[in-house]
Amino acid sequence: MLFTTVPGSEINLIRSLANNTIEWSGRFGKGWVLATSGDETETRYLSGKGKSWHTHPSGDSRFSLEDWILFLLDSADSHVLATAENIRTYRKRSVENINIFSQQRIGLNPKVSWKLNVARFGKYLCRSQDLDDPYGFLEDVLCKNLGIIVGQD
Ligand SMILES: [Zn+2]
Repeated sequence: MLFTTVPGSEINLIRSLANNTIEWSGRFGKGWVLATSGDETETRYLSGKGKSWHTHPSGDSRFSLEDWILFLLDSADSHVLATAENIRTYRKRSVENINIFSQQRIGLNPKVSWKLNVARFGKYLCRSQDLDDPYGFLEDVLCKNLGIIVGQD
């Protein structure tokens, strides 16, 4: 569904959707928020114009490994992750550099299966952070390596 908002209050609307038992996701821009609902643990990722966003009803205010892949494959320059308590913004320093890095160094590709992208990203995390289990990755190290700035408010 498409909401129109007073410009500048998009995050307030996203924050209100985060206070929920299901995940929400979508896109937003100045004066509008596009939203779709998922279930308790996941939601669809909408592509298109604007910035992207999603919520975590669990209260976890960090990207999951899967969230990272979606963000890296997406054309949006930033993503807002909202929980009932917290808003976290992930911003790409350079969309172009990240696209190149994601494709050439990590091997992410929207045309191959999701499973293969998860495997490739997991391999990259293990290699770059010296891990056995990719889910044990450190977010600040990943952000530094990729050129992503995390903001909070
Ligand atoms: Zn998520």
